[in-house]
Amino acid sequence: MLTVLQRIVEAVNQAPDLDSALGLIVQKARAALGSDVCSVYLADHDAQQFILMATEGLNLDENDRVTLAFGEGLISLAAQREEPLNIANATEHPNFKLVESVGEEAYRAMLVAPIIHQRKVLGVLAAQQRKARAFSAEEEAFVVTLAAQLATVIAHAEARGLVSGHYSPWLRNLTGLPGAPGVAIGEAFIGKPAATLGSVVPRRTEFPWREIHKFRKAVLQTRMELRTLAEQVAEYVAEDTLAIFDVYQSLLDASSLGDAVESKIKDGWMAQTAVKMAVEDFVSKFEDLDDSYLRERAVDVRDLGQRILSFLQDKNGSKPNFPDACILIAEEVTASMLAGVPRNKLQGLVSLQGSANSHAAIMARSMGIPAVFGVSQVPLGYLADQHLIVDGYSGEIFVNPPQQLMQEYEILRKEEFELAEMVADHREDEACTLDGIAVSLQINAGMNVEHDQQRLGHYEGIGLYRTEIPFMMRERFPTEKEQYDLYRPVLESTGSLPVVMRTLDVGGDKPLPYFPIHEENPFLGWRGIRMTLDHPEIFLVQVRAMLRANIGLDNLQILLPMITTLDEVDESIRLINQAYFEVRNELLHSQPGAVVNRPKIGVMIEVPALLYQLEAVAKKVDFFSVGTNDLTQYLLAVDRNNSRVAGLYDSFHPALLHALQFIVDRCRELNKPVSICGEMAGDPGGALILVAMGYRSLSMSTHNLDKTRWILRHLDSEIMQTLLGKVMQCTHPDQVRRIVRLKLEALGLGGFVRAGK
Ligand code: PEP
Ligand code: MG
Repeated sequence: MLTVLQRIVEAVNQAPDLDSALGLIVQKARAALGSDVCSVYLADHDAQQFILMATEGLNLDENDRVTLAFGEGLISLAAQREEPLNIANATEHPNFKLVESVGEEAYRAMLVAPIIHQRKVLGVLAAQQRKARAFSAEEEAFVVTLAAQLATVIAHAEARGLVSGHYSPWLRNLTGLPGAPGVAIGEAFIGKPAATLGSVVPRRTEFPWREIHKFRKAVLQTRMELRTLAEQVAEYVAEDTLAIFDVYQSLLDASSLGDAVESKIKDGWMAQTAVKMAVEDFVSKFEDLDDSYLRERAVDVRDLGQRILSFLQDKNGSKPNFPDACILIAEEVTASMLAGVPRNKLQGLVSLQGSANSHAAIMARSMGIPAVFGVSQVPLGYLADQHLIVDGYSGEIFVNPPQQLMQEYEILRKEEFELAEMVADHREDEACTLDGIAVSLQINAGMNVEHDQQRLGHYEGIGLYRTEIPFMMRERFPTEKEQYDLYRPVLESTGSLPVVMRTLDVGGDKPLPYFPIHEENPFLGWRGIRMTLDHPEIFLVQVRAMLRANIGLDNLQILLPMITTLDEVDESIRLINQAYFEVRNELLHSQPGAVVNRPKIGVMIEVPALLYQLEAVAKKVDFFSVGTNDLTQYLLAVDRNNSRVAGLYDSFHPALLHALQFIVDRCRELNKPVSICGEMAGDPGGALILVAMGYRSLSMSTHNLDKTRWILRHLDSEIMQTLLGKVMQCTHPDQVRRIVRLKLEALGLGGFVRAGK
């Protein structure tokens, strides 16, 4: 039975359109069951009826349209009850409805199974037999299993059918999970993962000249690309940074890398293989050099190699042609994909996988790009080059929308810009409520590609610097010097304002390409502090780099991620102290005047177990920072990246709200500073609730800074306390959301939680 099922699902998956998919289903299911009839009815929820879409056995004329109103017949009954019906003589059932036009009178036995996708009844699968008899338990189980498997297939095929405009002049809409607020209008562009040297499988060639020709063409394209890139960024980056493009150009010269690659090709290797070999040779030579500047160039050589490789792998040999208003679409959007689209063209993004809580979504929010995640109903290719509206508030995506809808969204988008300008005009104001409660607003850094300190206005430092991102962008662990070079400008960038640097938090959905961790449950596995404490050599190098970068600035604070036990706190502090004494002693000799200070140390509250150990941990550390992203995930036992359970992941869940209230109250009793650095802090409703609870320090992506400041300046204690009282009585996150939304609307702040002003 299993093989029959698999074959049916596979065949249907390959079908080019919805009609053929449904035709195949009924044909193959009838054959497998040996029944006289097998049919699929699909629900049209707008018209409140079921449509007989495909049948094997009934007389459905091509031009006929057979429908059953919702509530009519056994088809409706199975759908309504959301369970199968197995009836020996359907004609005797009070709900039986005869459809004469298809010659139904002859059939008595009926087995109907609802087809349900994500709790929604899409239709029913029905088998019929002339002879009155109950279908066997095995037959019933088969039809139920088939219907469950086909639900996804039909959901996909339905979307495909709609995209191709077969059933509707335009696709009503696809729905995913809101990932980053805002409205985007543009053309879909399918993003591909970047080429990597590591993925090239060595291959030989019989035609070296052909390969040399390909290579030279790719070099030419790389040169042109570099020239354009240099021109594009010239106005944003410093002169010395631009010099990197000259280095790249000279490396491409025939006397340098070019020569090495061509000689490998002449040895009989294909162009891609030769690039991989020559680049890796160069990289190891550079890495062995004593001069630190030249050693750094290894990274550039590798980057250059990958650029050439991407041209070699591109079948058309052309560089991506981004539409002017580009909506980036990918199976799973990655950081480098995001960075690869010119910022002035990037309007929005859609990631078929992942959810609003993934790090890619956090990055989109930090860049202010409307995003929708977890759009499982549609295969990637079908969105290519389509015109889209992406509503990052509701999670809706409109494909090839009609003019009228387009105009409505244009107006909403214009209003969004106006709102953003209005709040930006007040960015120098302090963040305090109408009755004078001051809230310290800080920024989360490390995830966003761009950094424009000028545009931040009034803020009080970096509340979370995620160090893992630079680790993820490399092909090996960065050295102490490389890390120093990364951290120093970050510490310098805030003047004397504090910078909370979090030690490496890899694992979970942040894998390092050069340090793969294979686990069944990565979020419950070797993540954050658990991994780094097992590798003190990695932890110590990182802390040493931070301490050295802090010399003379003294605004560093160190934050420990994923702390679960007191032992982890002790061990981390022991290592930090060790690094501190090492750096201090080394400096006594090399820079006698330099003062190394021991920074404040804090712990993230993101594992629920910590809630019950606050007192003991508070004795050992200087501050706490609540990571609501992971606290939500672990308190509710919902994988933050799994779109199937994303509906359950909600920071407004009553359990989380009570936990957050408990934390802030407890920290006040313990006299320990606590801030919030999870995404909830930058959510308009979330910030409101948190400040009402008593939090006075919120760290968020730069993009949310202006609006949070604006919202706080329109609130007072009375409004907040009344709201908090209601919210804490709620038993469902949707109730909380509704109460908060109504309050914001009443205060004229509704434009921060939906499209428009
Ligand atoms: C969190 O978990 O809330 C947090 C800030 O850390 P991250 O999102 O990087 O896991
Ligand atoms: Mg976390």
